[in-house]
Amino acid sequence: MHMIHPGNVLRTFVIIGIVHLLGVQAGTAQTVPTARWYYEPQYEPQEHQADMQHMRLDLRFVPEQGLVSGTVTHRFTPLRETVDSLFFNGPGIRVKSVLYNGKPARFSTGDEGTTVYLSPAAQWGDTDSITFQYEANPRRGLYFIGWKDSTGRSRKQIWSQGQGIDNRHWFPCYDAQNDKLITETIITFDSRYSVLSNGGRVSMHHNADGTTTWHYRMSHPHSVYLVMIGIGAYGIEERRSRSGVALHLWYYPEYPDRIEPTYRYSAEAVDFMEEETGVPYPWESYAQIPVQDFLYGAMENTSATVFGDALFVDRRAFLDQNYIGVNVHELAHQWFGDYVTGRTPRNSWLHESFATFYPKLFLRRIEGEDAYQWARKKEHDAALETSKQNLFPILHSRAGRTRVYEKGSAVLDMMRHTFGEQAVRKVLTQYLNKHAYGLVESNDLYQSFQDVLGLSPWWFFEQWIYRGGEPHYVVSYEDITLAGVRRTRFTVRQEHQRDDLVGLFRMPIGFAVHYADRSMDSTRVMIEKETEIVDIPNRRNAQIAFALFDPGNWILKTVSFPKLFTELRAQALRAPQMIDRYDAVMAMRELPPDTKRSALTEVFRQESFGEVRAEVVRQLVADPHASAREILRLASQDRAPEVRRALVNAVSAIPREERELFEQMLRDSSYEVVEGILRKLSAQFPAETDRYLKLTASDNGVGNAIRVLRHEISAGKGHTSSGDSLAVLASPANEFRTRTNAFEALCRLNHLDAGIVESLYDAMTHPNGRLRGSATDVARKYLTQSAHKTLFRQVLAAGEWQEWQRKILTEVVDAQ
Ligand SMILES: [Zn+2]
Repeated sequence: MHMIHPGNVLRTFVIIGIVHLLGVQAGTAQTVPTARWYYEPQYEPQEHQADMQHMRLDLRFVPEQGLVSGTVTHRFTPLRETVDSLFFNGPGIRVKSVLYNGKPARFSTGDEGTTVYLSPAAQWGDTDSITFQYEANPRRGLYFIGWKDSTGRSRKQIWSQGQGIDNRHWFPCYDAQNDKLITETIITFDSRYSVLSNGGRVSMHHNADGTTTWHYRMSHPHSVYLVMIGIGAYGIEERRSRSGVALHLWYYPEYPDRIEPTYRYSAEAVDFMEEETGVPYPWESYAQIPVQDFLYGAMENTSATVFGDALFVDRRAFLDQNYIGVNVHELAHQWFGDYVTGRTPRNSWLHESFATFYPKLFLRRIEGEDAYQWARKKEHDAALETSKQNLFPILHSRAGRTRVYEKGSAVLDMMRHTFGEQAVRKVLTQYLNKHAYGLVESNDLYQSFQDVLGLSPWWFFEQWIYRGGEPHYVVSYEDITLAGVRRTRFTVRQEHQRDDLVGLFRMPIGFAVHYADRSMDSTRVMIEKETEIVDIPNRRNAQIAFALFDPGNWILKTVSFPKLFTELRAQALRAPQMIDRYDAVMAMRELPPDTKRSALTEVFRQESFGEVRAEVVRQLVADPHASAREILRLASQDRAPEVRRALVNAVSAIPREERELFEQMLRDSSYEVVEGILRKLSAQFPAETDRYLKLTASDNGVGNAIRVLRHEISAGKGHTSSGDSLAVLASPANEFRTRTNAFEALCRLNHLDAGIVESLYDAMTHPNGRLRGSATDVARKYLTQSAHKTLFRQVLAAGEWQEWQRKILTEVVDAQ
């Protein structure tokens, strides 16, 4: 999914000693043991006395009360000679009764769960069962959306989110990922709603009391954190992959127009993953369901992915943000994470790095090589940014999200660059097949290199996975003649700081020399020493136009390679790979307009990739020269939305004579462009605002961003009804993005009443962290004013709160 797990620490390799890493955070040096050398027992796989084999979960709900009542039966076999008690995770679960092999059993329930006493004790070789009858009002793991909304406008849903260890809050279980079991879910609920869970649907039975019983069952084992349910009002679009995998694409029936853009590539993505991994989709079918107010981007529950409904988009929203990347991310997890699963969360790079990697490859298939290079570049930027904070290895318990997702994904690109695409594909196919429906750790992947290719690339795993940091190369070249041969001589020095954690890097790196006559020479060399000399003979005696180190930007690194403007210009216009052209344009950022203008306008006119044109726009936006203004005019109608977005975001003062040009962008197909330009035009030309509001009156945007902005603009002009409309959009009847946008607009307007405070309080105690964080920030801003503070206090005193809610709210109100 899109979150960081509790930790990742290595234990697979030899423990040699204790070495320390100097990590710098907030200006102070701190000493931290590194993963490789330090044993952290809390990250060992959890110990357990029984192998859970099967779970049958039978549930009913009273959604208005946030109540789940259930019967769960676990079938298991002991992992010890005798087992006389078993503990099941279940904080807050009220256990009514327990059966052991069908007979009442003694049990005791504490804060964290229930211990069941087995009499007679279970023996090796037995298959036994325990059945709990229970109730719970979970605050985590299971979420009831919209059932308390008194206006009747809110969507009504129930959905779960198990990862990391939250499923234990709504059913008693052994809740660690180092045990895999077959699960079965039986849910009885109001027939007006549809119910999704993991696996194939066994039956759907309409009962006389207006309820329907839905029965789902897995045919292969998975870990408990991947168990899911999703309930709401949905339609289901059925498709099949080329290999016949049944796809169930859930959608909100009132938005049939969103099915096509949202699920445009869903079937193709399954074909792609099967080809790329060489392993057929491992489950009986694949369902995807959008839900409101989801905690993260999406979650790869086995055979049933949940995603936030902000990604359930129409054709226009698709231009700004769409489901493609997340779709492939969660689909890739069906192999990497669900089919083969880390023994502990410390192995989460074996899930997340792969799930981050495959969407890039898929993007290459549907959009081409440039899009792939761009995605790689964004990952490199993120990983290198994190290295400014500390240099924890990917496998360290404190690696952090960016290392496990972006850096790990970049390492997989480098793995293919180093060993070959086909070779790595073969390794991964064997790794998946060998550990099918099983548990893995990092050494299993390493062993697959040995088994499949006969290679022991310890150095690669060591420098990129077990140790930290990235290389910094200082590169220069000379045009020289030696022994009668003209040659381009590159000198490469590795100049990053080295210690026990970060060593010299060994990587195959490309070098290329492009000549003025448009010919070129290139080579690829293993660079591993502190200083290396690489010669490329120039046999045709050609004049050098520009030289490239690591063309295509495969290596995760920083580089210092000074270049003349003439070289940058030639590179920006002529380098065969997009990312090298982009680097040259980026290197012009600090140059004065007169130096770079003609080069940049030429780049804009001939460059095929939008993000390069977008960078040209950012560099020319404040340039008053006529040729620069002409580029901006072209940019305002550019075919790529990223170019138009770049223009709208970068423009500060709109010259009066260009007003009409920018006004045309109020009709742009991209909602973000419309929102951005509406904000800027209204601020700069207040007399024209009514016309702008009319022009955009039919656009709402994702999370009602444009609608909220229209209300904000018109409230700012004194229309009080617009403040009231914003208050309605901020209320609990709406999804979290709309509410977030409305709160922020109300705060900028400094508009507040008791109803808005009530909405803020609801948001500040909401399970969705993004809504909670934004609402808390807004409340803090209001609370700096004493009149508002009084109102906050009154509403708090008048309301009925649970203890945990009162605690959260009081802390914020009293802190100001
Ligand atoms: Zn993920």
